[in-house]
Amino acid sequence: MNIHEYQAKTVLREFGVPVPRGVPAFTVDEALNGAQELGGPVWVVKAQIHAGGRGKAGGVKVVKSIDDVKKESTRILGSTLVTHQTGPQGKKVNRLYIEEGSAIDREFYLSALIDRETSRVAFVVSTEGGMDIEEVAKSHPEKIITFSVDPATGIMPHHGRRVAQTLKLTGDLAKQMEALLPKLYAAFTSKDMAMLEINPLVVTKDGKLICLDAKVGFDGNALYRHPDIMALRDLTEEDEKEVEASKFDLNYIALDGSIGCMVNGAGLAMASMDIIKLYGMAPANFLDVGGSATKEKVTAAFKIITSDPSVKGILVNIFGGIMKCDVIAEGVVAAVKEVGLKVPLVVRLEGTNVELGKKIIAESKLNVTSADDLDDAAQKIVKAVKEAA
Ligand code: GDP
Ligand code: MN
Repeated sequence: MNIHEYQAKTVLREFGVPVPRGVPAFTVDEALNGAQELGGPVWVVKAQIHAGGRGKAGGVKVVKSIDDVKKESTRILGSTLVTHQTGPQGKKVNRLYIEEGSAIDREFYLSALIDRETSRVAFVVSTEGGMDIEEVAKSHPEKIITFSVDPATGIMPHHGRRVAQTLKLTGDLAKQMEALLPKLYAAFTSKDMAMLEINPLVVTKDGKLICLDAKVGFDGNALYRHPDIMALRDLTEEDEKEVEASKFDLNYIALDGSIGCMVNGAGLAMASMDIIKLYGMAPANFLDVGGSATKEKVTAAFKIITSDPSVKGILVNIFGGIMKCDVIAEGVVAAVKEVGLKVPLVVRLEGTNVELGKKIIAESKLNVTSADDLDDAAQKIVKAVKEAA
């Protein structure tokens, strides 16, 4: 789960991380009040969306008068920001963050994430801050250093010294860096973050090390022990279909293709997606209805798939182990009765109660193509979609 920059800065502040003062705003009036409270003489008006690259897209503006706070807030709030991370459709700005302006001397890049290879928290550091780190990784990989932290010892003074050295910080600034790193590590581990990206980390003209931007994501599996973080969730930033699916405890991820998939088991779901690709089309989603889905859950899942206009065909692929094929069949039939079926549907059922499941579908008189195995099912749905096009 991701949160907004202003929320991330509030979390980091709790751990003593230096961030500029700021006030979130949902309206232009709130932005103006916030700006007055902060006092100026320089403010930054920042669009709050769950995507980076706002600066280049006009979503971050440094201003020097209350009039300009008003002008930029009015322009940005409610507008749709298209950045290299939003996709071409962009993201609507519903919140702003008004921050005190900082006089920047140097900009760096610093992030922490879970390195799956070492199963440790890894830091990524670069002198090339404020820009696209993916670009730096491509053109100047030598300008990025990474190291991981042994969980047995936790963060050590030598880590801080290494970062200071990499960023060529000396004297008091090196000390500030050595103090900052353990705070970031503490925030990362105690809040179960999955990613913490400070871009840019800056040195100000008056010699202070400050986190000027903060992008934070959390491990969804650990959210249950962080109700304070869970409360920061902004559903308007998430895919509507994914939000709906999460209400029913479905493992659903929206994708770009045209074949909707309803599968039980993550492995089978991945295999189904692969085989659709093998036959020349792409999945519109990943969906694992789980091992113990009820008819209601299956109905909800089917509705989510059919409500997606990019879905041109549906493949149901169920291996009934704990899950019973008749439950799936009933769910599919109920959903189709409710919302109709405008695209081809191929169903492959196997396992527990398979005969009963097939009977339910046959008796429903739905226009369903049945398939015997995964290969057959994938070929049939691809063919049906091509014919319907
Ligand atoms: P992003 O583009 O979404 O990553 O948004 P950032 O918060 O990183 O802001 C983009 C850029 O705006 C930064 O890299 C800075 O160069 C600039 N910026 C942000 N805040 C300030 C500020 O307080 N003072 C100055 N001078 N520039 C700022
Ligand atoms: Mn940034």
